[in-house]
Amino acid sequence: MTSQKPKQPSTPHRPSQGNRDFRNRIKRGGKPTDRQKKGEQENIPRGAPQLQAGDATAQPCIILRAGREKSLLRRHPWVFSGAIERVDGAPLSGDTLPVRDAAGNFLAWAAYNQDSQITARVWSWREEEVIDAEFFRRRISTALEARRALLPRTRAGQGRGEGMNNGARLIHAESDGLPGLVVDQYGDTLVMQIGSAGAERWRDAIADILQELCNPACIYERSDSDSRGLEGLEPRNGVLRGALPESVEVVEHGLRFRVDVAAGQKTGFYLDQRDNRALTETLARDKDVLNCFCYTGGFSLYALRGGAKSALSIDASGDALRISEENLTRNGLDATRAEWQEADVFQALRKLRDQGRTFDFIILDPPKFAPTAAFAEKAARGYKDINLLGFKLLRPGGLLATYSCSGGISEDLFQKIIAGAALDAGVDAQIIHYLHASADHPVLLSFPEGAYLKGLVLRVAG
Ligand code: SAH
Repeated sequence: MTSQKPKQPSTPHRPSQGNRDFRNRIKRGGKPTDRQKKGEQENIPRGAPQLQAGDATAQPCIILRAGREKSLLRRHPWVFSGAIERVDGAPLSGDTLPVRDAAGNFLAWAAYNQDSQITARVWSWREEEVIDAEFFRRRISTALEARRALLPRTRAGQGRGEGMNNGARLIHAESDGLPGLVVDQYGDTLVMQIGSAGAERWRDAIADILQELCNPACIYERSDSDSRGLEGLEPRNGVLRGALPESVEVVEHGLRFRVDVAAGQKTGFYLDQRDNRALTETLARDKDVLNCFCYTGGFSLYALRGGAKSALSIDASGDALRISEENLTRNGLDATRAEWQEADVFQALRKLRDQGRTFDFIILDPPKFAPTAAFAEKAARGYKDINLLGFKLLRPGGLLATYSCSGGISEDLFQKIIAGAALDAGVDAQIIHYLHASADHPVLLSFPEGAYLKGLVLRVAG
């Protein structure tokens, strides 16, 4: 078998304007550290891995070290640089190459990236499969069909979504067999995020297929996440197809939110919390609610619609708070029950404690403190800090809904951190809900890294 090299026209880059808050949100409100200024990520190996070149005249191919095929045999879709014995031929990043074990047996077709520690990401486990535009059409169609079945009211991928929900994650990267590709739908706007050299190579073909299958008014590209740097890819932010509507809106369980597709965080909205926000609505009646890391007001609006007595919402991003207030009026909710505060949550919680403020229901949905396990220890301190303060601000019998979207913090570890926080706060608590991302964010069973969002709702003793 030869390597599979599609010819794709390249597209001019546009500098990234967005995700600034997101990039810096691990820091505690102050100025970026020198490391952050340089865009460094602690403990994650950076730069091009040292790969052993093989026979430059041979067919391009990745040969693994003896015994290092095990994770691929378990269908984990990543090949780390350390598992590679040599790379034959002279492949370019983005090329599709066969991956072989030390004895030369075929394992997978994978997208090669010489600039990443994740040196190959698997497209297919079938030797006879050709990675071409038809391959992407099949994978994308499968992902869209699954959303239609999961979210029947969403009309996923069909453009001009109506009714109670018009937003969905249409493609969830590795877990949908499309490593490095995320596509979110907000009504008739699709936002695409590319985080791997392989998906980057097929970007235009993917956009054409999405245009054909979903017929959106706009496909917007938000390829400006931190992780692109680790892949050796430049940030990109701009319209890919059609024209961006003046205002993009997502409707979720009948609530309407403005989505800042060009400059908001991630692809503009956190669709993964949809079901957890709906649960919040059912728990909020007559409660004084504190929503920390509120972004554009998601949990607060649900709580207010659910009859909360008051909702104090805190976020470090002034832009997000301005959209929150707009969302409140957009939904005809009582603004006198809502208070918005632009602040660093770590400091704001201490201030509330010092002021003797207490609440019936506290929501903590912080940014990703630990993108990988290498950050776990530092992240654990951050989670413990805010949760300890959260427990202290709760009235007897109060509820704490606490989340982690860190891939580097397992569910088990998260629960242990929360248990430690409760202990130090001197409260007894019960878990009443174990929460995850909504069903349009599936997790491939062989790819546990896909299960990044975990949450607990706890009730403290009365
Ligand atoms: N709960 C939100 C999503 C939260 S995303 C929803 O349902 O849509 C995390 C949010 O934390 C972002 O809005 C970001 O601006 C904010 N943030 C990050 N670091 C912060 C800090 N130290 N203090 C306050 N807000 C912070």
